[in-house]
Amino acid sequence: MNPRNRRQRPVTVFDGRTHQVALCRGWRDGLPVFGWGEAPSTLLTVSQLRAVGLRRNGQDPVALLVFRHHRPYRREETTELFSVERAAPVRGTTAQRRAKVRNALRARRICAECRQDVGYYVPTSTRVCWQCESGTWEVAA
Ligand SMILES: [Zn+2]
Repeated sequence: MNPRNRRQRPVTVFDGRTHQVALCRGWRDGLPVFGWGEAPSTLLTVSQLRAVGLRRNGQDPVALLVFRHHRPYRREETTELFSVERAAPVRGTTAQRRAKVRNALRARRICAECRQDVGYYVPTSTRVCWQCESGTWEVAA
């Protein structure tokens, strides 16, 4: 028996579909607190969800995860755990998400004045290319 487990007590966690019984270390903000590797496998952090192509989907956290960094001087950190059952797939395919980013970047290269893709990011303050800004279009053309 691991002496580390003496302080743990059983808790029932609803993962969005079923109730899971697990050993938690206590409670904080009304949520059960788990140590690293002790939470039910159906509960993941936001970055763990992202790693498997899921997003939290607006749900509230169902538990907390406490962990220490490998470096001893880093203090204990807490992160929220979310239900895999209530998570949703990240919107769109990888290609669709890349296209979204590409379009967003392209929009930043379009001058608000001449509506042309000028090939560089126009200043966010003016949204205008430097030719329009300085009135040198006639000269340049
Ligand atoms: Zn322009």
